[in-house]
Amino acid sequence: MDSDLLLYNGTVLGETQTIANGYVLVRDGRICRIGSGVPEQEAAEKIDVKGLTISPGFIDMHTHGIGNVDFMESSIEDMEQALSEYARYGATRVVPTTISNTIDATISQMKQIRKLRENSPLGAMIPGTHMEGPWLSARCRGGHALEYLKSPTAEDVRRVIGEVGDIIITLTYAPEVQNAVWLTEQLCYHGIIPSLGHTEATFEQAEQAILAGARHVTHMYDTTLGYKENPEEALVMMPGMETAVLMDDHVSIELIGCPVHVPRPFFRFINKIKPRDKKVLVTDSLVGTGLPEQTRLTYKDGRRLYVEQGVLRMIDEDPAVNGNLTGSAVTINVALSRLKEYAELTIRDAVSWVSLNPATTLGISKQTGSIAIGKYADIVVMDESCNVKMTLLKGNRVFKAE
Ligand SMILES: [Zn+2]
Ligand SMILES: [Zn+2]
Repeated sequence: MDSDLLLYNGTVLGETQTIANGYVLVRDGRICRIGSGVPEQEAAEKIDVKGLTISPGFIDMHTHGIGNVDFMESSIEDMEQALSEYARYGATRVVPTTISNTIDATISQMKQIRKLRENSPLGAMIPGTHMEGPWLSARCRGGHALEYLKSPTAEDVRRVIGEVGDIIITLTYAPEVQNAVWLTEQLCYHGIIPSLGHTEATFEQAEQAILAGARHVTHMYDTTLGYKENPEEALVMMPGMETAVLMDDHVSIELIGCPVHVPRPFFRFINKIKPRDKKVLVTDSLVGTGLPEQTRLTYKDGRRLYVEQGVLRMIDEDPAVNGNLTGSAVTINVALSRLKEYAELTIRDAVSWVSLNPATTLGISKQTGSIAIGKYADIVVMDESCNVKMTLLKGNRVFKAE
């Protein structure tokens, strides 16, 4: 049977092996054959990738926006535009992430994202959303506004799960907030991945959350305070959330691909210490991603930001807040090339942090996340520096470099 599309003459990063001078054959949006050389079957379209790397598409499971679009407040049309922007950098799945706000505003924006997913041709890029906050630690709030932070009440949790629980795939909360264990159970029961973050939890609090089903850590080492001095005994350190999640091989850890948010040795450390499918790289990118240096932006609620050297910082009259780091402006392909360098990985191992590992974490690895027969043809063609030349979503070209 003839195929729709053949990519050939590339280094294929297949799920089980790397194939030099390899090809990928696509039929009905799915990968139907991989191998070396050129296949016998005819294909309606043949693309010679001229020695470039044929990689699984990238999955960014934590991003707030890109190109002046913000998933907390932009319109459906603008968010659709953002999806094609992500594809320029090789993303074939993104998990739109909301930032702390009122429960009403959060639910209403989740509904908009659901409409986008249902109605847009690019909606397939959204496996679900990530609700980040408002159930976070005030001290570790980072870019989240203090006024919205609270503990989860039964009423709020019931509303969130009841109205938008079907679209939320992951939810970040601090395990020291009131009712955190109960919240963890509710999330697990309704198929939402509980993720620990923006936290100064004790070891015991984190362990209780893991026992109740927490399985992921949101941007480890950024707004997590894992170790604290024992107030009773000078210079004795108390273990915190970090120790609990590093000791448990069921918990996956995400790092932001940015040396300002995550000091470089942590990339090597996490690579060494975590099982191979429990390491995830994200952008946590904000609205200013892809915009020029020193661009100033204002959220609808008045909070102001500026772009500086790959990160976003806050503008505020309070000198304690002004200049604070509030998020990154990195794209997923740049994050990938940094990870490769910082953790001293092969491209194959580095790519797993942005493909199969997040797919496994999100529970979508049967459909996507690697180049394997039967999976969707979610594919990136890139050069050795991770510059993206072409992106395929379910076999359709959603980006091609000029
Ligand atoms: Zn965060
Ligand atoms: Zn975030």
